[in-house]
Amino acid sequence: MAKLTFLGAAGCVTGSKYLVEAAGKRLLLDCGIFQGSPELSDRNFEPLSIDPKTIDYVVLTHAHLDHTGWLPCLVKAGFKGPIFANPATIDLTAILLKDSAHIQEEDTLHAQKHGYSRHAEPRPLYVSEDVDPVLKLLQPVPRTGPFTVSPEFQFVAYDAGHILGSTSLVLTITEPSKKTVVIFSGDIGRYDQVILQDPVTPPTQADVLLCESTYGDREHEAGDPAAEIAAVVNRVSQRGGCIVIPSFAIGRTQTFMYYLRQLEDANKIPRLPVYVDSPMAISATDLYLKYSADHDSEFRQLKSADGGKGDPLNVHEFHLTRSVQESKAINQVKKPCIIVSASGMASGGRVLHHLEQRLPDARNAVLLAGFQAEGSRGRALQDGAKSIRLYGHAVAVNAEVVSMGQLSAHAGKSELLRWLGGLPSAPKQTYLTHGEPQAARALQGAISDQLHWKVDVAQYLHTVELA
Ligand SMILES: [Zn+2]
Repeated sequence: MAKLTFLGAAGCVTGSKYLVEAAGKRLLLDCGIFQGSPELSDRNFEPLSIDPKTIDYVVLTHAHLDHTGWLPCLVKAGFKGPIFANPATIDLTAILLKDSAHIQEEDTLHAQKHGYSRHAEPRPLYVSEDVDPVLKLLQPVPRTGPFTVSPEFQFVAYDAGHILGSTSLVLTITEPSKKTVVIFSGDIGRYDQVILQDPVTPPTQADVLLCESTYGDREHEAGDPAAEIAAVVNRVSQRGGCIVIPSFAIGRTQTFMYYLRQLEDANKIPRLPVYVDSPMAISATDLYLKYSADHDSEFRQLKSADGGKGDPLNVHEFHLTRSVQESKAINQVKKPCIIVSASGMASGGRVLHHLEQRLPDARNAVLLAGFQAEGSRGRALQDGAKSIRLYGHAVAVNAEVVSMGQLSAHAGKSELLRWLGGLPSAPKQTYLTHGEPQAARALQGAISDQLHWKVDVAQYLHTVELA
């Protein structure tokens, strides 16, 4: 009998890891790090409940670190099998893992030097040298359509419209006497957004469905994101402030750049310098332009403007900062500017330095576009904290804090229900993953009321039979 164990993203939005066991084989679907509260982050340092050497395959839904960021730990602990992902996900994963390793090295060095860590001896989860062995195991699969991992495990991939390369995966498990179909939603994106295609619901009858529930209890703010961004940029620049955006340089950053460029071209905002501060100094924008299968028709049109030279993601004054010195030099920028820097929930990374610099000044603004997990500094800012702890001391929050749900890469509640409603029939069993308890329970209620499906909230470390 095939079994499934929730090794992460159960009771929280991070740490996605689902273990499938069937016909004597073990497959791990996603391998993410936990992010948010210190208690969750500490889980990353604990060993997996099973020996990674006994896992045969890994398959990835998309590149975000809460789905890939634990791969270096898995490989350090002895995993040697193939890691299957589509080409865009492979490219993005390489960048994100290297960036993540650099950030951990920088954070650890800084903590050791200034002695503010919760831990007696702060250490990184992994370092840059741990990333290459992971990249060697990555094997490409098609962007959409069927692919075979082994005789027991066959997949079909659908575009999830969440970030470049993101997928929902249908797994058919073949055992001697039966077949079982499991759908993994992955992270589900938005309908009618800029750049990316709409999410596609697999047209498949499933025995078991795992569905994310990040925004299971909420709708995103309505309204035009461009108008909202224009209002923030104009307001902050007129008072001489700058805007700090906690974010990795991939995903929402491209959406934000897209709107900025449109607004600059329409002369609706001033052309401010934009600093993307990331140790890898990556140009994720190039990757977004490269993988055209992900583009929606509007983006294709813009891209083909100027005889194919259109680059709708490039703002007029763009700076990539790579070294720590360049990063520190941004502190000297006293005129209005926009700073994009990781991590997205302000749980670590260079954005902490920028927040330390800019939060006390009421002219500035912090723009939160991504999901802010319980216990993270981002959530504290979102909830109106008057001060937050950075590097062991309290920093006053006088800057304006703006939450922009319109820029979210995750489906809101009704979009999740729209995606689920696209399935041809009720799965025999649905488990809700990737959501804080309140969000998962709210979506559970909506699914039983509106769709009348059998639906449970996934429990951390529980094993269920895939019947
Ligand atoms: Zn994601």
